[in-house]
Amino acid sequence: MNLILLGPPGAGKGTQAKRLQAAYGIAQISTGDMLRAEVASGSAIGREAKAIMESGALVPDAMITAMLAARIEAPDCARGFILDGFPRTLAQAEALDRMLAEKGRRLDHVIELRVDDAALVERISGRFTCAACGEGYHDSFKRPKVEGVCDVCGGTEFVRRADDRAETVAARLEAYHRQTAPLLPYYRAQGRLVSVDGMAAMDEVTRQIEAALAR
Ligand code: AMP
Repeated sequence: MNLILLGPPGAGKGTQAKRLQAAYGIAQISTGDMLRAEVASGSAIGREAKAIMESGALVPDAMITAMLAARIEAPDCARGFILDGFPRTLAQAEALDRMLAEKGRRLDHVIELRVDDAALVERISGRFTCAACGEGYHDSFKRPKVEGVCDVCGGTEFVRRADDRAETVAARLEAYHRQTAPLLPYYRAQGRLVSVDGMAAMDEVTRQIEAALAR
């Protein structure tokens, strides 16, 4: 099963993608995580992407499409994948359609997580993750059970994304509405789009997604 989770930054794509990965045994692919790994390693791609990401803009289509094409060839994608953060432009969506057609694969579902912009700013600006295991937390909605200690691995170091600052969030939302939202009619026209209420509680969102996938 190959699916896309579509929605603005902070809609919960990463959280839901991790749950679906565990439930269906298919690969979670976050192009944002891939780029952050390139930045951390200091590679040529990372050096080019860093300033763009920190400004809240999108990196060039050719760069991200090449990364994605290589990633979906990996063995863990043989049973399928969940794309979280790709495609983000019409050019990327068209490139993905071509890539899949060439491999005789297809896209099964596109799930939109719908969330109000006002809620997104609060969700994004309060989030942080465990530096050791990547478990996600939030200043208001999900603090570690013991202050300063990760619930999952016991780690005591936490990190905040450089682009989760309030100033950058507005630019990221603008990029979503201008460049990514046009994908909604594109996938609706293909008959693949299902929208779920991303404002609902996390477990309810998962339930709605699983119901859509079973259809
Ligand atoms: P994310 O973790 O998905 O919010 O992505 C963080 C940042 O990485 C974005 O704000 C973009 O600068 C860049 N990025 C991630 N995925 C893409 C993509 N598919 N196309 C262009 N830029 C991307």
